[in-house]
Amino acid sequence: MPFQPFWTWVTGKSLWDGNPKLARETWLTEWQLWCQIAWSWAVTITSVTVGSAVYHSQLSLWAKVPVYIVVWVLVVNRTRGLLHTFHYTNHGASLADMKRAKWIGTFFMSIPILHTSWRNYHQLHAETHHSRHDLCTDRDPDQQFMTAHGFYRGMPEWDYWTRLVYAPLLPRNLWAHFWFRIEQNFIKPERKEIVFRAVYWAVFFTLAIRFQVGTELALFFFFPLILLTQHSSWIQHTTEHLWFPDCPEGTSPFVAIGALTWGRFLGRPHPGNGRGLNHAWKLVKWWALLFLIDIPIRIYSFMQDLPSHDFHHRAPRVNFWRIAQERSANEGLPSKYGPMTETWGIWESWLILRDHLCRGQHDPFNIYQWDRQHREAANLLLDERKRVA
Ligand SMILES: [Zn+2]
Ligand SMILES: [Zn+2]
Repeated sequence: MPFQPFWTWVTGKSLWDGNPKLARETWLTEWQLWCQIAWSWAVTITSVTVGSAVYHSQLSLWAKVPVYIVVWVLVVNRTRGLLHTFHYTNHGASLADMKRAKWIGTFFMSIPILHTSWRNYHQLHAETHHSRHDLCTDRDPDQQFMTAHGFYRGMPEWDYWTRLVYAPLLPRNLWAHFWFRIEQNFIKPERKEIVFRAVYWAVFFTLAIRFQVGTELALFFFFPLILLTQHSSWIQHTTEHLWFPDCPEGTSPFVAIGALTWGRFLGRPHPGNGRGLNHAWKLVKWWALLFLIDIPIRIYSFMQDLPSHDFHHRAPRVNFWRIAQERSANEGLPSKYGPMTETWGIWESWLILRDHLCRGQHDPFNIYQWDRQHREAANLLLDERKRVA
């Protein structure tokens, strides 16, 4: 398509048909990582500065609020972007030199955004969430998060839809998130790191008070960093996996993992060529939904690699800059995880989760069924060979 890189970005779906690369061929050089970090901080600092300038301007509230919304969304996008770059770096999917990676990650992508320490994050995420034995079990911190928000298999449908909206806003959940950050920043890390973190924030707040920018920072940095981030990550988190799975006994172990994720692409079918008023209306609607739904969701909630989270679980050491292309390169190839699947638009993903949690449809892409048929066919073949031998 014309402007394919743009469409790949909006939808998260690449049409790359080259050969798959080795994971390490997708890693960054150190200066590329620095550019990524600098870009994120440049957007964040510019957004906070613009927000503050508008806040002090003579503009009417009607003119100010739209600017505030853009500022908030951009700060959420880039601070969560830093968190995700940290995530990849922590997996060993950014730099080959892990000592450098840890240092850069801690000081530029964790401490200033009040994120978890390098070591604890590795434990919670790479060792637990990514473990074949823990993913989507009660040991998985990400599933515990769903449980804490009141989700379970067999929940009533009205409860499912209403909780999707109000659960992240409950004071109990907001407090739990805030307390998690305090713990992960000032209680759980190693002593030396707690000192670094405390000194950083002491200097930060001293300067904020000295230059009297406390209100501006609260409005345009801490509000999006702490409260809106929670909401933005909730939207993607709900569909990150087929939570509380009901996996049939005997399923191949890697297929059981593959069945829990899918490509979460944004967009809808284009109306194609046509004429007349009816077709024009379809086109207007398609473009409107692109700008009113797909692009805002991509920026607010599905930044960086999130549409390809399924492939991330298959190949956690492929860098986020290449993940859409690598997913595409691997799509038609046989894999121990089974075939790849996908949804278009977040709504479709929510329907799948609803059917699974509320309507007892636990195999939305027929992956378990596909696996059973393959195992049966393999057994038949084995029997046949034994007979011939
Ligand atoms: Zn990961
Ligand atoms: Zn995951």
